[in-house]
Amino acid sequence: MKNKKNIILLGATGSIGESSLRLLRKNKEKFNLVGVSAHNNTELLSKIVNEFDVPNVVLSNPKNAKSYYGKSELNIGHSSLIELAKISCDIVISGIIGLSGLHPAFAAISVGNNLAIANKETLVSGGKFFVQKSHEKKVKILPVDSEHSAIFQCLEKNNICNVDFITLTASGGPFLNMPIENFRNIKPEHAIKHPVWKMGQKISVDSATMFNKALEIIEASVLFNIKSDKIEVTIHPEHIIHGLVHYKDGSVLANLGFPDMITPLSVALNWPTRLNLNLKKLSLNKISNLSFFEPDFKKFPGLKLGWEVLQNPNYSPVILNASNEIAVDAFLKNKVKFTDIYNIVYETLNVCKISVPKNIDDIIEIDRTTRMVSLDLIKRKFQK
Ligand code: NDP
Ligand code: MG
Repeated sequence: MKNKKNIILLGATGSIGESSLRLLRKNKEKFNLVGVSAHNNTELLSKIVNEFDVPNVVLSNPKNAKSYYGKSELNIGHSSLIELAKISCDIVISGIIGLSGLHPAFAAISVGNNLAIANKETLVSGGKFFVQKSHEKKVKILPVDSEHSAIFQCLEKNNICNVDFITLTASGGPFLNMPIENFRNIKPEHAIKHPVWKMGQKISVDSATMFNKALEIIEASVLFNIKSDKIEVTIHPEHIIHGLVHYKDGSVLANLGFPDMITPLSVALNWPTRLNLNLKKLSLNKISNLSFFEPDFKKFPGLKLGWEVLQNPNYSPVILNASNEIAVDAFLKNKVKFTDIYNIVYETLNVCKISVPKNIDDIIEIDRTTRMVSLDLIKRKFQK
């Protein structure tokens, strides 16, 4: 047991959860899984608890609690999720989707736990407070998002002043080569089929609209304290290069790897050391072609909002994120068209009165009112 790292995994039943468990399963002598959470999937949660002998278990949505059969006691509800994140451990992984991850992730760093964060919506909305708190508590916020893990690995320690700009790569999603005229007919089942990554439904739709990259621009500005005009996005369909740091002396450091979230998760959990994961080896000799080109903002107008939200004082990342969550949810429920996701977000950004959050609770409040505005817009204007 000695020298093992104690890990708490929030969102154990999702795609990030699955990659995290793969990493932990391969390295049982290195990690103890001391806590897990799920929201709906009681069946999978029970299996995980029994396989990894997890002592602390939370189901944040009480609805399905009856079918739980894990060997440890089950705690229920959002407040139990926050308590779970506060249990002293080496690293809390946040693989929760959406702003529901905000309070638990903030609770984790507030008690001095390091945080490996995939949950970008939380950083987009509450980034400033996370960075402040992490400095105050001397804890690490370790990026899991592959592009941000790439930048993190290419940045030399405390060397951000020598950086000219950074590049985030984007696979371009499933509709990269589809003519724009066909976009209005895109159905949820098409949008959730990502060509490169296997991910949850919400982030898959975000990748299809490229709102995912807009969120990642904001996430990068928070994590690396870098201005939006120093963040470039390039389309790279093979997604072998995940991110580049361009230094002022002309050196460019890039991070490469096959697209598999196990690697950025391993980086976050072991930094600055590395594990031997015995993965398929990447040989440039065998990769015949890597392509790169500029994004098409006509097809993917949501991408532009990533920069605009950081540059325009009348726009707010919290509002961008909340309205996008509502619009994606409505699209997945077949209530609005694919192309209306952008329209809903754009209109919400322009209607909502901006207020600057002073703390985490303010963010929750802005998020709540934004959702009401977007839902009302959908009802009045966009519902099919
Ligand atoms: P999934 O939808 O696959 O999983 C989401 C997880 O969160 C599940 O464990 C789910 O539980 C839980 N959950 C859902 N709703 C709530 C809620 N209201 N409160 C608490 N827990 C909840 O998502 P992904 O794993 O794909 O993504 C997770 C996060 O990681 C997102 O923020 C995404 O942007 C980010 N990310 C994901 C990547 C990927 O490869 N998947 C890559 C980079 C970033 P249950 O299943 O039991 O309902
Ligand atoms: Mg990413």
